[in-house]
Formats: sequence, C-alpha cells, structure tokens
Amino acid sequence: MSDDGLVLLQLHEPGETPVPHEAESGLAVGIDLGTTNSVVAFSFDSEVEVLKDENGKALIPSVVHYKDDGSVEVGAAARRAILESPDQVVSSIKRLMGRGIEDVKSLAGTLPYEVVVPPEGSPGGGMVRLRVAGRTLTPVAISAHILMAIKERAEQAMLGKSVTRAVITVPAYFDDAARTATKDAARLADIEVLRLVNEPTAAALAYGLDSSVEGLYAVYDLGGGTFDISILKMEKGVFQVKATGGDAVLGGDDIDHAVAEHFLSQRAAGAAITAGEVKQALMTARVAKECLTSQPNGEWMIELNGLTSRHKMTKAELEALAAPFVERTIEICRGVVEDAGIDVSAIHGVVLVGGSTRMPLVRRRVAEFFGRQPLADINPDEVVAVGAALQAEALTRGSDTLLLDVTPLSLGIETMGGIVEKVIPRNTPIPVAMAQEFTTYQDGQSAMSIHVVQGEREMVDQCRSLARFVLRGIPPMAAGAARIRVTFQVDADGLLTVSAQEMATGVEQHVAVKPSYGLSEDEMATMLRDSLVHAKDDMAQRLLTEAVVEARRSVLAVKSALGVDADLLSDDERQAIDAAIEAVETACAGIDRDAVTAAVESLEEATKAFAEKRMDRGIRQALAGVSVDRLDDALGGAE
Ligand code: ADP
Ligand code: MG
Repeated sequence: MSDDGLVLLQLHEPGETPVPHEAESGLAVGIDLGTTNSVVAFSFDSEVEVLKDENGKALIPSVVHYKDDGSVEVGAAARRAILESPDQVVSSIKRLMGRGIEDVKSLAGTLPYEVVVPPEGSPGGGMVRLRVAGRTLTPVAISAHILMAIKERAEQAMLGKSVTRAVITVPAYFDDAARTATKDAARLADIEVLRLVNEPTAAALAYGLDSSVEGLYAVYDLGGGTFDISILKMEKGVFQVKATGGDAVLGGDDIDHAVAEHFLSQRAAGAAITAGEVKQALMTARVAKECLTSQPNGEWMIELNGLTSRHKMTKAELEALAAPFVERTIEICRGVVEDAGIDVSAIHGVVLVGGSTRMPLVRRRVAEFFGRQPLADINPDEVVAVGAALQAEALTRGSDTLLLDVTPLSLGIETMGGIVEKVIPRNTPIPVAMAQEFTTYQDGQSAMSIHVVQGEREMVDQCRSLARFVLRGIPPMAAGAARIRVTFQVDADGLLTVSAQEMATGVEQHVAVKPSYGLSEDEMATMLRDSLVHAKDDMAQRLLTEAVVEARRSVLAVKSALGVDADLLSDDERQAIDAAIEAVETACAGIDRDAVTAAVESLEEATKAFAEKRMDRGIRQALAGVSVDRLDDALGGAE
C-alpha cells in the first residue's frame, strides 16, 4: 500500500473501471472482531496493511471501560483499567453475542461481569444485558463501542479518510442470532457490513489457499479464551466448512491461570488475596508466558499485600503447566477429524490462527498430530483480519475471488408427528434459496403452522426451534389437495428468511428468522455429535412416526367420508369399517411399525367397496346438470 494514502483513490490502470462512487461511500476494511483482541486491516491491489495505532500496535484488546464521566474507552487503556475499576470494565463480550438467558446459565462462572436477565416480556426479548458502572448495556451495544474504536483507528491510520464498510469475521459456529447481533453492532457503529465471513475461511484466504491445491485444509485457532478447529474443503475457489469443533472456554487464559497459581503457590501462605491482586498476578503470568515464547527463562515480580515476590520460570516449566491444555486441543482435533470421516493424512495444509499458537509447544504438537509443518508465516493474531481485508477488496473492487460460506447446521420445518423435514442441509454453500412443497392434513384446513428448526436430528424435539408462524387464508380443500410451497432463503451473511405460499391462491407469509438467542459452541457440538450417535434410532423413530402419521391420515379420510356418505353402507359393512379404524388407532398407540402398516392395509380392505360406491355417487353428482363441454372441468375438479 502507498504511504501517501491520498493517492489511493485515483490509482487505477487505464481502461480499468473504478468502482463507482468509491470516494463517496468510503473505504472498506477487514475486521477480526475477536473475543480477546480485535484487528483491522486494509487491502489495496492485494497488498494488505494491518492498521496500527500510534505506538505501532496492531491488536486492539476487545475490552471496554465505561468511565465515571460517561466517556467510553476501548483497547489497551481499558484493559489496564481492569486493575483499578474492575466493575467498570467489560471484556469477552463476544461470548454473549446473540445469546439468551439459557445460554448464559451454561456459561455461568466463566463470565467476568454481572449479567442481568430481563423480566419476561420486556422489549428486546430474551437478550441478556449487563450491569456496568450503573448502565444497563446489551452485548450488541458493547460490541458497537469496540467497532467504533476500530473504525476510528482505521480512519486515523488511513490519514483521515472515512471508513464506512467492512467485512467482519465471525466464528464458523456462530448461528443466526450471533450473526444478526454482529451486524446490528456494526450498524450502531455506522459500519456497513459487506459480508460476514467465517474466521477459518478468512485465515485460509490470507494464505491464498483459495488459489492453491483443491482439497482439505485444517485451521487451528487457539486464542485467549476459545479454541476452534475447522476442516475446510476447498473446491474451485470455494471453501466449505466440512467440520468444526472446539471448546468455548479453553485458551491462553487457562495457561495464564495455571502460571498465576504456580506463582502464588510459591509465596508463603498467609493473608487472603484480594480480587484485584489476583488480576495483577494474572497479568504478570500472561507477560511471563508471552516472554517465554522467545526466551528460555526469566524472572518476574508480583506485588501482593504490599509485599514484592520474585518468581523465576523456564520455558520447560511453562510447557509443563501448559501441556494439559494443549493436549485437550489435540484431542478435540482428533475427534473432529474422525467426525469428518477423514484421515489426517488427507489434509493438505494446516493454518495457525490465534495468539496462543505462537507458543513453540503448540506448534510442535500441531505439527506432530497433523504430520506436517503448519503454515505460520503470517502473524497468527493478524491472519484473520488479513483475509477479511482481502475479501473486502474483492467485494468492493470486483475481483473474482468471491468467497462462499456454508450453513453450519441443517435447516428444516416440522411436519406431522414432530418429524423434521430438512429444507437446506448442513454445509450448503450460501447464499442459497431452496423450496419444498407441503400439503394440508385435514379437509378444509384453512391455516398451517410453520415451525422452523435447526439441527441434524430427525425429530423436532431434538432440534433447535428458530421460529414459528402461521400461514392463513388457505382456501378450503380436501386434505392433501392444497400445495404449500415453503421457501428457505439464507443470504450471504448466513441469515435466514422463510416464506410460505399457498400455490392456488398465492396467499403468502414471510418471516425473517431472528431468534432471540443462539446456541453455545458446546450445544452445537453436542447436537452434531448426537445426530451421528443417534442416527439409527432416529431413522427407526422417524419411520414409525411417518407410518403413524400416514395411518391417522387414512383414518381421518375414512371418517370424513363416513360423515358424508355413511348411507351407502350396510350395517355389517359399517361395523367392519369401525372395527378396522379401531385396530389402526390401537396400532398407532404402540411402537410396532409393521403392526401399523398391517392395520392400515386391513382398513383399506374394509373400505374398498365403500370407496367404489362413493366414487360412483361422486361422478353421478358431478355430471348432474353439467353440459358436455364442461365435462373436463368437472372431472378435473372432482379429482
Ligand atoms: P482472540 O482470538 O480470542 O481474540 P488472540 O488471537 O488475540 O485472541 O489471542 C490472545 C491470546 O494469545 C492471549 O491469551 C495471549 O496471551 C496469547 N499470546 C499472544 N502472544 C503470545 C505469545 N508470544 N506467546 C504465548 N501466548 C501469546
Ligand atoms: Mg481470534
């Protein structure tokens, strides 16, 4: 990139069409909005510059300090303020993006701030809020403060030009709610989101893997508080997330804790340690850990209870403390590779992401597990932002490296009997629109309730409910005659809109799916794992339920026919049919699918003569008083 930023906008080759209105719409950057740190980068002609502050620092700690005077401070200064005013400082807010009360319960104890649960029915629904320095803030608002600071940083680094658009990265497992929350935060910060891109995909893009050998790549991301492993499949320049896994509460912070505990245990046991002092010990531990990446040993001081203690540590001692955490990441990698049904040797390359992958121990273990040296030329804490910047340039300047992401979990709707009908399968490249037709279950049914769910299991109660809505105004028709087309549309940012349309009348309902809270990584992993473990049971359950639904449908049809044409039957015939209906109902209450099928067959047998008599009567009625040239219509209508 040119040092003279002013020239940038006028630089284009003769004949090359500049993007219209680029000057007015402002520059587009790539933002890695991290749990611990955020980074912003800008790309021009595929040359990426990571934008730094006046001290030459690229990483912006994702920490916000709400000061007494009402002002807001973000970054390194906010992180330092944790020591003096821990109750005014918020960190790790990304963990709560798009989360609801249920998720927060599962994160209890891992959050360094007070979370308030809004009373039921309050505006904003189930979204959690934080009490910070006398203010009540949503995770979206807090993230927006971080994004505003990032935007300001970028504008300063770009010599005051306005930065208005960005590609923002999100974890591959972020669901609809978390993605929506991220976009909302950007909007509050006055940033137009060109695209939300998965973090591992951005990292792969930074290494130019989109134009490299087609095949499988692993992205190993160990940050401050989270670990993520993704297996990407690159094909024709498109990345698909084949499998993801990780641990939402495993990262460099755990190593800091282990080191801090070690330091504290070296001090003579004595007076209680205050919360502020623990934080100080943690900060020293982090410094020691980071130093030992490049030096073999060192000595650090901790001031506690007015006493200064000195602590020596070698790289080998650090590695012994860190090893259990690193081994956990390797175990998770093993599980994900297995889930993906591949052999590690099939993986063409491994990308390192996250500050903690600077540790030599991590690099060694990753290299051992994957049997190859990982790619680590690009700063692991900047690589995601670099990829995002490249993508921002591609999107604004019309390059052909257009990236596609995929749906992380299958999306479907509930059908009779609580069965999930998948409309968009997991790992479908987005944007995508897919439709499926459904029909009514009862005669004259005028409304249909649509329940949108997410997950891999066959039954609704084992998937996650995203939204419900009702399609009304279906014209009265016989059961099974109405055709209702349900369309799922996932946009480039991974956000879902569902619409349902009754084909005869065109009556239509839409719903943009914005669930009030999302899934935690653990739940996501559990859902995927369960879908594999229970696949067989699920299928059996599904077949039984389908048979039962079919059977009940037949009973309903017979009953409604009896309601109209019972006079066609003799007493004996009527009794036989009633008995057959009862047999079906009994079978449906059990769990034997063959019994259900057999009972339905007997019912069909028992109603055969009745059906024929009805058919005769129907045709006679249809023909009554109809002239020959309308005969076709009448038959068509009677079908
Ligand atoms: P996140 O993705 O969660 O925002 P980062 O990728 O910025 O996080 O990683 C932050 C973590 O990386 C912190 O735990 C930090 O201590 C660790 N880290 C940064 N540099 C080093 C280093 N040289 N050696 C060991 N750990 C490091
Ligand atoms: Mg990160």
